[in-house]
Amino acid sequence: MTRTRIAPSPTGEDIHVGTVATALMNWVWAKKNQGQFVVRIEDTDRTRLVVGGEQKMLSTLNRLGLIPDESPELGGPYGPYRQSERLPLYQKYAKELIVKGKAYYCICTPERLAEMRKEQQSKKQIPKYDRYCYNHQKEVAEKVKNGQSHVVRLLMPDKPVTFHDIVRGEITINGKDLDDQVLLKSDGFPTYHLAVVVDDHLMKIDYVIRAEEWLPSTPKHIIIYEALGWPLPVFAHVSLLRNPDKSKLSKRKNPVWASWYLDQGILPDAFLNYLALMGWSHPEGKDIFSLDEYVKVFDLKDVQKTAPVFDPVKLEWMNGEYIRKMEDKDLGPMIYEYYGKELNKETVERTTPLIKERIKKLTDYLPLTEFFFKRPEKYDIDLSGKKEMLRAMAETVSGITDWQANVVGEKMQALANKLGVKNSEFFMTLRVAISGKKITPPLNDSMAILGKDESLRRLRMLL
Ligand code: GLU
Repeated sequence: MTRTRIAPSPTGEDIHVGTVATALMNWVWAKKNQGQFVVRIEDTDRTRLVVGGEQKMLSTLNRLGLIPDESPELGGPYGPYRQSERLPLYQKYAKELIVKGKAYYCICTPERLAEMRKEQQSKKQIPKYDRYCYNHQKEVAEKVKNGQSHVVRLLMPDKPVTFHDIVRGEITINGKDLDDQVLLKSDGFPTYHLAVVVDDHLMKIDYVIRAEEWLPSTPKHIIIYEALGWPLPVFAHVSLLRNPDKSKLSKRKNPVWASWYLDQGILPDAFLNYLALMGWSHPEGKDIFSLDEYVKVFDLKDVQKTAPVFDPVKLEWMNGEYIRKMEDKDLGPMIYEYYGKELNKETVERTTPLIKERIKKLTDYLPLTEFFFKRPEKYDIDLSGKKEMLRAMAETVSGITDWQANVVGEKMQALANKLGVKNSEFFMTLRVAISGKKITPPLNDSMAILGKDESLRRLRMLL
């Protein structure tokens, strides 16, 4: 049984786009293998916690349709799924490591550690704990018993750690180069390293698919797995998303919170389709494919090491393709919902086919169609010198009995001919008079939807 997970920390206001990409890969791998996809919240760093961050992350995952099998909200057989609710477990395994001689208490004060670091730096040594407490275990144990503030440190074995990463191949790090990692902090909270290993083991996670930034931590995790006599999961460290200029995805260049894209009217399926292409390509080179197809053709071993570029322009292009694939009868109500049901539903549904080819995201709808919902207040060109033409247009409009796009088109064309005005000038005047804008969806259709009375009113307003 394949079990995958994401373990985000609620240290931001929402879920990061990169985390969604990792979540998607975990989700697809679980689905592909009829396994489970777990969401665990790693909230042990209390200083960086963002209030409401967890709820927002979970709700964004739901909006995207990346529904976990187990999570803090849904529960499951290996809960709790929030690390702050699992403290006794970490304490238990920290003790076990001490008993096994694989970890030790440390009572060094922050001042002593700072002093030590300074000295090491001045000697150009890599800052590393000097194992004072390991070398004075009896004395330290006594002080701990008497209630002295302490941490628990992992005793790094003096040997190379080698592991295989599905994406990155074989990796070797010498344990000698690693600092004796703190596992349990003085407030009884675990560090990430202890908590992640304990949870991945107890939650029976057998594939750890996560961002490459956690690669340097993996040898420490392996040492903990081995010290506790636990089997290793399979590791796959996927490359971080980059901006088109190859810099790390960060708030300064592009929005990084997934809900920002959804709020802009990026469709969840298009978003996931685009993220699926981050570090992986469809075997037939396809850009656009369904989630079902993705599950069918995805394989973890095909994930590439090169840094994927997250380009919002391409994402929008893909979203436009998804919009065009939709049926008008589905797209109309979706746009209506998107605008909070505040626009006239029938008008939205009737105008949707007119703009479907032109929009890339749902936010593009209203700027193109605003004039259907309210009369223009300003005009892209000055019409004050066109009163004669506008009067003739109004007369023609008022004489039309069969108010349909093609009839409107024919009658207006006949008027242009009769007045001897160039088509471009005539129809631009009409367009701006009706909409206020130089660029609109097809004018005849627009006037047909606006209705005869409203079209007439807009022409007469200018007389
Ligand atoms: N809590 C880590 C994060 O915020 C999880 C790292 C992991 O997946 O092991 O991304």
